Amino acid sequence: MTEVTFTPATAAIRLTHWLDAAAAAGLQRLPVDVEQLALHVAKELKWPDPIFKVVAADIPSFEGGLFHVEDQGWALLYNRNMTSEGRIRFTQAHELGHYLVHRFAQQEFQCSQADLVHWGPEMRSIEAEADDFASNLLMPMKQFRACTSTSEINFDILSDASSMFGVSLTATALRWIRSTEHSAVLILSRDGFIDWAVSSDKARANGAFYKTKGRVIELPPGSLAADETIVSNRSGAPISLGTWFMHAHRDAVAKEMKLVCDNYGYTLTLLSLSNGDKVWEPREWSHT
Ligand SMILES: [Zn+2]
Repeated sequence: MTEVTFTPATAAIRLTHWLDAAAAAGLQRLPVDVEQLALHVAKELKWPDPIFKVVAADIPSFEGGLFHVEDQGWALLYNRNMTSEGRIRFTQAHELGHYLVHRFAQQEFQCSQADLVHWGPEMRSIEAEADDFASNLLMPMKQFRACTSTSEINFDILSDASSMFGVSLTATALRWIRSTEHSAVLILSRDGFIDWAVSSDKARANGAFYKTKGRVIELPPGSLAADETIVSNRSGAPISLGTWFMHAHRDAVAKEMKLVCDNYGYTLTLLSLSNGDKVWEPREWSHT
C-alpha cells in the first residue's frame, strides 16, 4: 500500500499532471470531469479504499457529502437540486479534496452551502482547504492565466473564463483575485451589507481591504453596489476611490464593476484600483 500525504496544493498538482497527460493523449482537458477522476483516483494512487460511487441525492440540508462505507470505500454524494452545473462540479471537487486530504481525520463529511459559498479569506479549516483544492483542480493556473491575464479585468472576461472551466462566476472571480498582481478587491454583499471581501495581495499591501469577520458593514453610499437602480455594470464605471476607502487621496479614481446574482441572492462587486493608490489611515506620529 502506497500512502501519500497530500496537502490541498500537492493533491491538485498531482491530479493536474495526470489530466495534462491524458489531454496530451487526446482526452478533453476542460472542464474537468470530476466524477470520472473521483472514481479512478484510488487506482492510480494504489489506495485500498476507493470512491466507489458518485451519486446525486435528495439531501436538502447539504450540498455535498463524503461517507465511508465499510468494506466498500467512500460514497460521494451531491445535492441533485443544485441549480448550476458549475456548482455541482465545484461541490464534487470539494468532496474529492476531502477524500484526498482529510479522509484519515473523519469518516464522513457533510458540506453545506455556507461551506461552499461563504468562502472568506479568514476561514482556515478543512472546508477552506477543500475549496482551495477544488479551485486549483478546476482552474489550473497555466490555463487560467492564459485567459485572464489582460490589462483590464471585467465581469465579461471572468464570465467567459467561468464557462471555459465549468465553474461559477464567483469561484472564478475568487481564483482571479487570489492570483492577480493587480490591485483589486472582490466584495460579496447581500441586502445592502458586505458579506465578505477579498483583496488581492497588491491591494492588501496598499491598505485596501475590509475586515468583515464579526462586523456589520454597510455598502458605502454612492457606490454602484449600494444603488438598487443599477442591476449590473459588467465592464465597470469610474468611481472616486474615497467612496470605498475614506483615507484614499481625493483625486484617486477606481473602477467599480457590479453583477447582481439573482439566483443566489447576492451581489458581486469588483473594484479595480491603480497599483500606486494607497489608502492606509494616516498616522499622526508619522508627521512628527
Ligand atoms: Zn466540505
